[in-house]
Amino acid sequence: MAQIHNLGFPRIGAERELKFAQEKHWKGALSHAQLEALGAELRRENWQRQSGLDAVPVGDFSFYDHVLDTSFMLGNVPERARPEQGQPLDAYFRVARGRAAGDAEGVAAGEMTKWFDTNYHYIVPELSGRTTFQLDAKRLLAQLAEARRAGVPAKPVIVGPVTYLWLGKTHDGCDRLELLPGLLRVYGELLAALAREGVEWVQIDEPALVTELGPEWHRAYHLAYESLAGPGPQLLLTTYFGRLRENLELATSLPVAGIHLDAVSAPDEVERLSGALPAGWVLSLGVVSGRNIWKSDIGKALDVLEPIHGTLGDRLWIAPSCSLLHVPVDLTSEKKLDAELSSWLAFAQQKLEEIRSLGDALNQGREAAKGALAENARALQSRRRSKRVNDAAVQTAVKRLSPGLGARKSPYGKRAGAQARLFKLPKFPTTTIGSFPQTAEIRKARGEFRAGKLDANAYRLKMRAEIERAVREQETLGLDVLVHGEAERNDMVEYFGEQLDGFAFSEFGWVQSYGSRCVKPPILFGDISRPRPMTLEWTRFAQSLTRKPMKGMLTGPVTILNWSFVRDDQPRSLSCYQLALAIRDEVRDLERAGVRIIQIDEAALREGLPLRRSEWHEYLRWAVDSFRIAANGVADETQIHTHMCYSEFNDIIESIAAMDADVITIETSRSNMELLDAFDRFEYPNQIGPGVYDIHSPNVPSEQQIVELMQKASEKVPAERLWVNPDCGLKTRSWEEVLPALRNMVSAAQRLREAAQGSVR
Ligand code: GLN
Ligand code: ZN
Repeated sequence: MAQIHNLGFPRIGAERELKFAQEKHWKGALSHAQLEALGAELRRENWQRQSGLDAVPVGDFSFYDHVLDTSFMLGNVPERARPEQGQPLDAYFRVARGRAAGDAEGVAAGEMTKWFDTNYHYIVPELSGRTTFQLDAKRLLAQLAEARRAGVPAKPVIVGPVTYLWLGKTHDGCDRLELLPGLLRVYGELLAALAREGVEWVQIDEPALVTELGPEWHRAYHLAYESLAGPGPQLLLTTYFGRLRENLELATSLPVAGIHLDAVSAPDEVERLSGALPAGWVLSLGVVSGRNIWKSDIGKALDVLEPIHGTLGDRLWIAPSCSLLHVPVDLTSEKKLDAELSSWLAFAQQKLEEIRSLGDALNQGREAAKGALAENARALQSRRRSKRVNDAAVQTAVKRLSPGLGARKSPYGKRAGAQARLFKLPKFPTTTIGSFPQTAEIRKARGEFRAGKLDANAYRLKMRAEIERAVREQETLGLDVLVHGEAERNDMVEYFGEQLDGFAFSEFGWVQSYGSRCVKPPILFGDISRPRPMTLEWTRFAQSLTRKPMKGMLTGPVTILNWSFVRDDQPRSLSCYQLALAIRDEVRDLERAGVRIIQIDEAALREGLPLRRSEWHEYLRWAVDSFRIAANGVADETQIHTHMCYSEFNDIIESIAAMDADVITIETSRSNMELLDAFDRFEYPNQIGPGVYDIHSPNVPSEQQIVELMQKASEKVPAERLWVNPDCGLKTRSWEEVLPALRNMVSAAQRLREAAQGSVR
């Protein structure tokens, strides 16, 4: 009998119950005990949703982040957060977010970063030469007991020791791997504790195995698993998010009892791995994607699994490709999605049903799962053939893409001259990144409009009033290039997705981004087209209010792609090219309407980088190409800006330059312009606006601070090519903060200009 199991279940609850409870708790309106009770309730519900599986993950639930849970379990708690007294949960939230409920003062929150190539963020383990570990498995053991009381066939899930160190960071120059022996002692104790509870299998997550690892990491893997081998529970070495490639031999040489492969990202490794499987090992195959919201092709999965089942029998396990953390909980919550589209989708709950059908078909023959198989085949066929998915005109347009489409008419030097003559901007021109404060009033108007309580005309008038306000303020401030302020946008991707054909929106399709923050990615299901202009009316109205240049504001194709659930029936690059063509049409409409400066935001370009560096080139090729197609269909005089919320450019600066935007604005103020170091090695050829106002903080930068930051920037980039602007959009700030900050920014630019003139004379 093939076994069926799961690697992890979303912890936020079908209606984001966890988020609301966390936030209430942090405000002091929900006690520790009440929060714990809600946690137990969610776990119970999640276990019920996983009933019928042979092994159910325990330890995957978390009040903030499972990596942070691991740090606490290993006794790696930063000193600043340790409780003198009181609840362990308080210390936990102090590391997670700098502050526990009721704390008068905050501490530095732990650093947060992307979990592999997903949009989930974990709290980075803080490591140093002085780090010691000490087991504290209370939480995990309590949840194990709780699961067993509920009759759940529990399989504890832990982050593996090598991946734990791989995820961590040291700041004292100490080599993380020196901590391994001490860490292994604690892992040994943990496995012994689980053995005492009679645990047979432990899922030990080692996704670092799908990344490029140096020889020292290979040695660490050997050392770690040789030290953990022994009479304790059997270990299922669990990998996901990619191919094992050159690490496959390493993985199969470790003394464990089985391995999990993400067969969705590595379909070509199934055969290799099953052929190389050590005697007696379990092979767990993740054939249902834990990363997207599409129904799997069950028939196709069975074609792969049946022969392997023939050889391995009960040593074949079936699971989702990775934890279901990255998909929404339950499709049946959706009441507004149309039936056809719904029939193509599967959220966590439905993915487990697929796993059950696969188990039935393997163990009792396809006949036993006939109904489910037939329904699955029907849904896939309807999706393949649907007119909503296939748009011949779009497909032809993408086929006809030629390299010339992404090229400007003239090189930057010539364009810059033409633009200078047209705009006559001063040195150190000032601008902002797009959004102005999204006041409660704006959000209320949008909410009422959506709920049908405000008619289209009343809504338009309200938004126009906001645009007028933003324009008036910018004129008073004396900014050089204005924006309309994005009052009408809820979100920079959703706003465009809602107006493009080929996108759908769920009501409860939330996934955890970090802590209590959840996102609801749009669903890109079909060929993309733009039935009508998306931003033209607002931008044109804004331009009519001023004689200064109004900057049109668009989200770029790569960012729309990277922040959506995308199609699995065509390469990402193809969907990206389709988006590029739609944005290109918008750019040209804006240009035709007299908008001569257009910004195309690519906030998420870097996020799409593959885990392995050897694959970066291919991604960057089509990503940069897509941006160029979107941006470059304009005349020399039209100035293209792009914006990115980071400036870790060192490793991709050639690609950033290849985008060939006339101006790029980036985030640099918090790092004190240090991030511009990339420019030592590579001379960025076009204009650049390094942010001088940290919009993540309520602090108002002084004129002097801004002048100093810009002077620092001009050591790296010639002053003639510098712009003065904030780090990012201002939508999360209040007008009271924004106005003085921008006032200082404008006067700082003035001072820089005077200083520059002085040096000429
Ligand atoms: N134009 C967007 C804004 O100002 C950019 C946001 C972003 O880069 N995340 O809000
Ligand atoms: Zn930004």
